[in-house]
Amino acid sequence: MASLAVVGAGVVGVCTAYELARAGHQVILVDRNTGPAQGTSARNGAQLSYAYSDALASPSLLSHFPDILLGRDPAYRVRLQADPEFLLWGLRFLLNAGQGRFLDNTRYLLGLAAASQSTLTELLGRHQLQFDYAVAGKMILYATPEAFAGSRPGCELKAGLGYPLERLNRDEATAIEPALTAYRDPIAGVVYSPQDAVGQPHLFCEHLISVMQRQYELNLLLGQSVERIEAKPGRDVRMRLSTGETLVADAAVLCTGQTAGLAKGLVAPGTSWPVQGYSMTVPALGDAMQVSITDVKRKTVFARIGNHIRIAGIADIGSRNWTFEAERLESLRQSAYEAFGGCYDVGPDAPLEPWTGARPMTPSSRPIIRRDSRTGLYLNLAHGALGWTLALGSAAKVTELIADGIR
Ligand SMILES: Cc1cc2nc3c(=O)[nH]c(=O)nc-3n(C[C@H](O)[C@H](O)[C@H](O)COP(=O)(O)OP(=O)(O)OC[C@H]3O[C@@H](n4cnc5c(N)ncnc54)[C@H](O)[C@@H]3O)c2cc1C
Repeated sequence: MASLAVVGAGVVGVCTAYELARAGHQVILVDRNTGPAQGTSARNGAQLSYAYSDALASPSLLSHFPDILLGRDPAYRVRLQADPEFLLWGLRFLLNAGQGRFLDNTRYLLGLAAASQSTLTELLGRHQLQFDYAVAGKMILYATPEAFAGSRPGCELKAGLGYPLERLNRDEATAIEPALTAYRDPIAGVVYSPQDAVGQPHLFCEHLISVMQRQYELNLLLGQSVERIEAKPGRDVRMRLSTGETLVADAAVLCTGQTAGLAKGLVAPGTSWPVQGYSMTVPALGDAMQVSITDVKRKTVFARIGNHIRIAGIADIGSRNWTFEAERLESLRQSAYEAFGGCYDVGPDAPLEPWTGARPMTPSSRPIIRRDSRTGLYLNLAHGALGWTLALGSAAKVTELIADGIR
């Protein structure tokens, strides 16, 4: 039995800790926050998008790029930076937007998502976790015939991999999800994936930690930051905590989300960049959606979680040091009002439960899951817009790497 440290108790770190504990290791899970999933995992879009794990850099995004740069799409904001790392990331992102790379990257992400989906099914067979989980299905709404046609190659790829996707017209989709009646704009076509799910990652993390504390060897250290790590292949890993203590483990996995901070120096410049988004969680009204919905035109997602609707969107690219901006939340509120105004309360006096977070995005959208040969540290981070969907699959992958490394 090895003692393994996992740094970061977001959804990726908690899933990694779980997989390692199940593999029979003693796990130390450390996070600087006082509870799990208080970073990007806190209030994301809540979608487990197993069939829609598409890479962000795509031909359709590329064709839309001039509008984004000119500020004609309120869902995106690009602030160009005279920062070599940003420029390198941006260039590599654009190089990933061709059809070939897009399909390769999406195929990779779908594989990781499929592993996550089957792992979650097995996990829920072992433990009862309350996290507003529902296999609600997902609909992707396309506003124009061109946009709908552009989704065809991705659908063909997924159909070839066995995903039961349906391409529907508005009436067919409305027969499945009556809330589409309330949608005010044209819908040229809908891609429906009945097996996609929703759930709240922070509740999932809290409950999974309770399971680990009851059934496995978990040492949970919250409210303690790892300030420095000394690591060399074949040696113990020594971690200096903010409390002044030194933690010693046989190996360590960095699940710190962003590639700044502890992971800086372990990844090449331009490997990931934060793409900031916002969410609000509002009371569902009578005819609110049950199926989770992605509105491609507005780049906004709607997920039913219990009696509430989680609405998430906005992709602001540019600033390393992102902060909450009320005007951007207002843009999301306005967009949600225009889309399905009667399905939930987003009025001026509604309790919006506003939240912002940043998706650490690699140019290919593939997360970084590997062993660093110079230090022997393991990395499981930069999951971009899909960390909730991919967390269990990437946890299984890094657990395999660790098993190979300590064999
Ligand atoms: C607006 C928005 C909507 C999204 N919607 C979805 C969605 O619908 N579906 C989906 O699959 N994904 C979605 N995502 C993406 C998803 O939320 C992230 O990919 C995921 O939460 C990343 O999890 P993580 O554990 O890697 O990172 P985090 O949740 O950020 O966790 C990293 C943890 O590491 C800790 N940490 C960092 N450095 C240290 C240190 N030195 N010492 C101790 N602790 C440290 C932090 O405190 C933090 O708790 C969305 C993201 C955003 C922003």
